[in-house]
Amino acid sequence: MPSFVIAEKCDGCKGQDKTACQYICPNDLMALDRDAMKAYNQEADQCWECYNCVKICPTQAIEVRGYQDFTPLGGNVIPMRGTDSIMWTIKFRNGGLKRFKFPIRTTAEGSIDPYAGKPEADISKVKETGFFNYEARKA
Ligand code: SF4
Ligand code: SF4
Repeated sequence: MPSFVIAEKCDGCKGQDKTACQYICPNDLMALDRDAMKAYNQEADQCWECYNCVKICPTQAIEVRGYQDFTPLGGNVIPMRGTDSIMWTIKFRNGGLKRFKFPIRTTAEGSIDPYAGKPEADISKVKETGFFNYEARKA
């Protein structure tokens, strides 16, 4: 079931050009109503419940209503992401709570250089086979 915004908690990311949920959604589904300064999922049937927007929202204003076999009706699943770990809080419909904390990285945030050791792209070769394949270019 798609993500939805809890309007009372959303501050529109304080009116930045692009909100955190807009920035992170791989399907470009989140929109901001600039008059109300509230975000919303503009095409809910295209949401694949990846939880990216839920994890990144700084005010925890986004939730995904889980399928009943995974989350019993009335329960919810809330992630809280830190720089090196994530805590999942599961709230059951009888009020019971369970929390699970997992490490999410072994290096400092922002320290990864994905292109380290790779050759500079030569755009004049963009139509050549293997242009995007580093191993093929080395051969
Ligand atoms: S990331 Fe959260 S606070 Fe920011 S606009 Fe989206 S729902 Fe609102
Ligand atoms: S759950 Fe994923 S696909 Fe759905 S709106 Fe959020 S970021 Fe986009």
